Amino acid sequence: MSRKPIISGNWKMHHNHFEAIQTVQKLHYRLESDDYEAVDVTVHPPFTDIRSIQTLIEADKMKIGLGAQNCHWEEKGAFTGEVAPGMLAKLDVQYVIVGHSERRELFGETDEVVNKKVKAVIANKMTPIMCCGETLEEREQGEAEAKVERQVREGLAGLSKQMVANLVVAYEPIWAIGTGKTATAEDAEAMCAKVRAVVADAHGADAAAGVRIQYGGSVKPGNIVELMSQTDIDGALVGGASLDADQFAAIVQYRNH
Ligand code: PEP
Repeated sequence: MSRKPIISGNWKMHHNHFEAIQTVQKLHYRLESDDYEAVDVTVHPPFTDIRSIQTLIEADKMKIGLGAQNCHWEEKGAFTGEVAPGMLAKLDVQYVIVGHSERRELFGETDEVVNKKVKAVIANKMTPIMCCGETLEEREQGEAEAKVERQVREGLAGLSKQMVANLVVAYEPIWAIGTGKTATAEDAEAMCAKVRAVVADAHGADAAAGVRIQYGGSVKPGNIVELMSQTDIDGALVGGASLDADQFAAIVQYRNH
Protein backbone atom coordinates (compact mmCIF):
# COMPACT_ATOMS: atom_id res chain seq x y z
CA MET A 1 0.00 0.00 0.00
CA SER A 2 1.43 3.39 -0.87
CA ARG A 3 1.06 5.99 1.82
CA LYS A 4 0.87 9.64 0.84
CA PRO A 5 3.49 11.60 2.78
CA ILE A 6 2.19 14.11 5.30
CA ILE A 7 4.23 17.10 6.47
CA SER A 8 2.74 19.14 9.30
CA GLY A 9 3.73 22.46 10.82
CA ASN A 10 3.19 22.73 14.57
CA TRP A 11 3.37 26.42 15.40
CA LYS A 12 3.01 25.88 19.14
CA MET A 13 2.34 29.21 20.93
CA HIS A 14 3.74 31.34 18.07
CA HIS A 15 2.15 33.63 15.47
CA ASN A 16 -0.88 35.79 16.27
CA HIS A 17 -3.62 35.75 13.65
CA PHE A 18 -2.02 38.53 11.56
CA GLU A 19 1.30 36.68 11.46
CA ALA A 20 -0.50 33.42 10.78
CA ILE A 21 -2.30 34.87 7.75
CA GLN A 22 0.97 36.21 6.33
CA THR A 23 2.73 32.88 6.86
CA VAL A 24 -0.01 30.84 5.18
CA GLN A 25 -0.22 33.30 2.25
CA LYS A 26 3.53 33.06 1.75
CA LEU A 27 3.49 29.28 2.03
CA HIS A 28 0.70 29.07 -0.54
CA TYR A 29 2.70 31.32 -2.86
CA ARG A 30 5.76 29.10 -2.53
CA LEU A 31 4.00 25.75 -3.05
CA GLU A 32 2.98 24.39 -6.46
CA SER A 33 0.03 22.14 -7.24
CA ASP A 34 2.49 19.25 -7.73
CA ASP A 35 3.55 19.64 -4.12
CA TYR A 36 0.01 19.14 -2.84
CA GLU A 37 -0.39 16.13 -5.10
CA ALA A 38 2.76 14.57 -3.70
CA VAL A 39 2.40 15.56 -0.04
CA ASP A 40 -0.44 16.37 2.38
CA VAL A 41 0.58 19.70 3.92
CA THR A 42 -1.00 20.76 7.21
CA VAL A 43 -0.58 23.79 9.45
CA HIS A 44 -1.45 23.82 13.14
CA PRO A 45 -1.80 27.40 14.38
CA PRO A 46 -2.89 28.42 17.88
CA PHE A 47 -6.67 28.27 18.45
CA THR A 48 -7.08 32.04 18.16
CA ASP A 49 -5.84 31.93 14.54
CA ILE A 50 -7.96 29.07 13.29
CA ARG A 51 -11.02 31.04 12.13
CA SER A 52 -8.83 33.48 10.17
CA ILE A 53 -6.88 30.68 8.50
CA GLN A 54 -10.06 28.76 7.71
CA THR A 55 -11.45 31.81 5.92
CA LEU A 56 -8.20 32.36 4.01
CA ILE A 57 -7.93 28.72 2.91
CA GLU A 58 -11.56 28.72 1.74
CA ALA A 59 -11.42 32.07 -0.03
CA ASP A 60 -8.27 31.22 -2.00
CA LYS A 61 -9.15 27.52 -2.41
CA MET A 62 -5.81 26.55 -0.90
CA LYS A 63 -5.01 22.87 -0.57
CA ILE A 64 -3.33 23.37 2.77
CA GLY A 65 -4.91 21.21 5.48
CA LEU A 66 -6.02 23.05 8.60
CA GLY A 67 -4.97 21.52 11.89
CA ALA A 68 -5.17 22.18 15.62
CA GLN A 69 -2.61 21.43 18.33
CA ASN A 70 -4.90 19.96 20.96
CA CYS A 71 -8.53 19.60 22.05
CA HIS A 72 -10.59 18.29 24.95
CA TRP A 73 -12.28 14.89 24.66
CA GLU A 74 -15.74 15.99 25.82
CA GLU A 75 -18.22 17.66 23.49
CA LYS A 76 -19.21 20.38 25.95
CA GLY A 77 -19.27 21.15 29.63
CA ALA A 78 -17.71 22.93 32.58
CA PHE A 79 -14.09 22.79 31.38
CA THR A 80 -12.91 26.39 31.59
CA GLY A 81 -10.36 27.26 28.97
CA GLU A 82 -10.77 24.07 26.93
CA VAL A 83 -11.88 23.64 23.32
CA ALA A 84 -14.21 20.83 22.21
CA PRO A 85 -13.42 18.69 19.17
CA GLY A 86 -16.80 19.52 17.63
CA MET A 87 -15.91 23.23 17.75
CA LEU A 88 -12.79 22.51 15.69
CA ALA A 89 -14.68 20.34 13.22
CA LYS A 90 -17.12 23.24 12.65
CA LEU A 91 -14.13 25.37 11.62
CA ASP A 92 -13.18 22.76 8.99
CA VAL A 93 -10.21 21.60 11.01
CA GLN A 94 -9.07 18.29 9.51
CA TYR A 95 -6.18 17.23 11.73
CA VAL A 96 -5.60 17.49 15.47
CA ILE A 97 -2.25 16.86 17.17
CA VAL A 98 -2.89 14.74 20.27
CA GLY A 99 -0.49 13.98 23.09
CA HIS A 100 2.40 16.18 21.96
CA SER A 101 5.27 15.69 24.41
CA GLU A 102 4.83 19.29 25.60
CA ARG A 103 1.22 18.44 26.54
CA ARG A 104 2.34 15.25 28.22
CA GLU A 105 5.33 16.75 30.07
CA LEU A 106 4.02 20.23 30.91
CA PHE A 107 0.29 19.60 31.25
CA GLY A 108 0.23 16.07 32.64
CA GLU A 109 -1.51 14.28 29.79
CA THR A 110 -1.51 10.54 30.38
CA ASP A 111 -1.91 7.75 27.84
CA GLU A 112 -5.50 7.39 29.03
CA VAL A 113 -6.23 11.06 28.30
CA VAL A 114 -4.50 10.79 24.93
CA ASN A 115 -6.64 7.76 24.07
CA LYS A 116 -9.85 9.64 24.94
CA LYS A 117 -8.75 12.57 22.78
CA VAL A 118 -7.83 10.32 19.84
CA LYS A 119 -11.31 8.78 20.00
CA ALA A 120 -13.02 12.17 20.27
CA VAL A 121 -11.11 13.52 17.26
CA ILE A 122 -12.11 10.51 15.15
CA ALA A 123 -15.73 10.73 16.35
CA ASN A 124 -15.74 14.26 14.95
CA LYS A 125 -14.46 13.05 11.56
CA MET A 126 -11.02 14.61 11.94
CA THR A 127 -7.65 12.85 11.81
CA PRO A 128 -5.54 12.56 14.95
CA ILE A 129 -1.78 13.00 14.78
CA MET A 130 -0.87 11.10 17.91
CA CYS A 131 2.60 11.83 19.25
CA CYS A 132 4.94 9.49 21.09
CA GLY A 133 8.60 9.62 22.03
CA GLU A 134 11.18 9.17 24.75
CA THR A 135 13.31 11.53 26.86
CA LEU A 136 17.10 11.48 26.64
CA GLU A 137 17.28 9.76 30.01
CA GLU A 138 14.89 7.04 28.87
CA ARG A 139 16.95 6.52 25.70
CA GLU A 140 20.20 6.31 27.66
CA GLN A 141 18.68 3.77 30.03
CA GLY A 142 17.51 1.60 27.14
CA GLU A 143 13.83 2.30 27.85
CA ALA A 144 12.94 4.15 24.66
CA GLU A 145 11.33 1.27 22.78
CA ALA A 146 9.25 0.12 25.73
CA LYS A 147 7.95 3.63 26.34
CA VAL A 148 7.01 4.24 22.72
CA GLU A 149 5.36 0.82 22.52
CA ARG A 150 3.25 1.58 25.59
CA GLN A 151 2.26 5.01 24.23
CA VAL A 152 1.19 3.50 20.90
CA ARG A 153 -0.70 0.55 22.43
CA GLU A 154 -2.51 2.66 25.03
CA GLY A 155 -3.06 5.70 22.84
CA LEU A 156 -4.71 3.63 20.11
CA ALA A 157 -6.51 1.15 22.40
CA GLY A 158 -10.07 0.30 21.44
CA LEU A 159 -9.88 1.69 17.90
CA SER A 160 -10.98 -0.33 14.87
CA LYS A 161 -8.46 -1.41 12.21
CA GLN A 162 -10.00 1.04 9.81
CA MET A 163 -9.60 3.93 12.27
CA VAL A 164 -5.95 3.10 12.88
CA ALA A 165 -5.21 2.71 9.16
CA ASN A 166 -6.39 6.28 8.60
CA LEU A 167 -4.64 8.11 11.38
CA VAL A 168 -1.14 9.53 11.82
CA VAL A 169 1.40 8.71 14.53
CA ALA A 170 4.29 11.13 15.07
CA TYR A 171 7.44 9.70 16.60
CA GLU A 172 9.20 12.60 18.28
CA PRO A 173 12.17 11.89 20.53
CA ILE A 174 11.80 14.59 23.19
CA TRP A 175 15.54 15.33 23.25
CA ALA A 176 15.36 16.29 19.56
CA ILE A 177 12.45 18.76 19.84
CA GLY A 178 13.56 22.36 19.53
CA THR A 179 17.15 21.46 20.40
CA GLY A 180 18.71 21.36 16.95
CA LYS A 181 19.62 17.70 17.59
CA THR A 182 18.02 15.25 15.19
CA ALA A 183 17.90 11.51 15.58
CA THR A 184 20.03 9.88 12.90
CA ALA A 185 17.93 8.72 9.98
CA GLU A 186 18.74 5.12 11.01
CA ASP A 187 17.57 5.62 14.60
CA ALA A 188 14.45 7.48 13.45
CA GLU A 189 13.69 4.68 10.97
CA ALA A 190 14.27 1.99 13.59
CA MET A 191 11.74 3.55 15.96
CA CYS A 192 9.20 4.27 13.22
CA ALA A 193 9.50 0.63 12.11
CA LYS A 194 8.95 -0.36 15.74
CA VAL A 195 5.79 1.79 15.87
CA ARG A 196 4.50 0.05 12.73
CA ALA A 197 5.28 -3.38 14.20
CA VAL A 198 3.37 -2.49 17.38
CA VAL A 199 0.41 -1.32 15.29
CA ALA A 200 0.54 -4.60 13.31
CA ASP A 201 0.56 -6.62 16.51
CA ALA A 202 -2.27 -4.66 18.13
CA HIS A 203 -4.47 -3.87 15.11
CA GLY A 204 -3.39 -6.12 12.23
CA ALA A 205 -1.43 -5.88 9.01
CA ASP A 206 -3.89 -3.62 7.16
CA ALA A 207 -3.82 -1.03 9.93
CA ALA A 208 0.00 -1.15 9.96
CA ALA A 209 0.18 -0.78 6.18
CA GLY A 210 -2.12 2.26 6.23
CA VAL A 211 -1.04 4.22 9.30
CA ARG A 212 1.21 7.14 8.41
CA ILE A 213 4.19 7.66 10.69
CA GLN A 214 5.87 11.04 10.94
CA TYR A 215 9.26 11.77 12.43
CA GLY A 216 9.56 14.99 14.43
CA GLY A 217 12.50 16.67 16.13
CA SER A 218 14.50 19.51 14.58
CA VAL A 219 13.47 18.68 11.01
CA LYS A 220 15.01 21.22 8.62
CA PRO A 221 15.46 21.59 4.85
CA GLY A 222 18.94 20.07 5.32
CA ASN A 223 17.86 16.77 6.91
CA ILE A 224 14.41 16.10 5.44
CA VAL A 225 15.64 14.27 2.34
CA GLU A 226 17.46 11.57 4.26
CA LEU A 227 14.60 11.17 6.71
CA MET A 228 12.01 10.85 3.94
CA SER A 229 14.08 8.22 2.14
CA GLN A 230 13.47 5.77 5.01
CA THR A 231 10.89 3.01 4.48
CA ASP A 232 8.79 3.60 7.57
CA ILE A 233 8.93 7.39 7.72
CA ASP A 234 5.90 8.80 5.90
CA GLY A 235 6.29 12.44 6.81
CA ALA A 236 7.42 14.97 9.35
CA LEU A 237 5.99 16.98 12.23
CA VAL A 238 7.91 20.24 12.11
CA GLY A 239 8.03 22.82 14.88
CA GLY A 240 10.51 25.71 14.65
CA ALA A 241 11.20 25.47 10.93
CA SER A 242 7.47 25.59 10.08
CA LEU A 243 7.14 29.14 11.47
CA ASP A 244 9.02 30.43 8.45
CA ALA A 245 7.16 29.88 5.17
CA ASP A 246 10.35 29.65 3.09
CA GLN A 247 11.87 26.98 5.30
CA PHE A 248 8.63 25.04 5.61
CA ALA A 249 8.08 25.14 1.84
CA ALA A 250 11.64 23.87 1.32
CA ILE A 251 10.87 20.96 3.65
CA VAL A 252 7.61 20.17 1.82
CA GLN A 253 9.53 20.29 -1.47
CA TYR A 254 12.14 17.74 -0.33
CA ARG A 255 11.57 15.80 -3.58
CA ASN A 256 13.27 18.62 -5.53
CA HIS A 257 16.41 18.84 -3.40
C1 PEP B 1 7.46 19.83 17.40
O1 PEP B 1 7.02 20.92 17.75
O2 PEP B 1 6.72 18.84 17.41
C2 PEP B 1 8.85 19.76 16.95
C3 PEP B 1 9.30 18.63 16.49
O3 PEP B 1 9.60 20.90 17.05
P1 PEP B 1 11.03 21.22 16.36
O4 PEP B 1 10.86 20.88 14.88
O5 PEP B 1 11.27 22.66 16.59
O6 PEP B 1 12.04 20.32 16.98
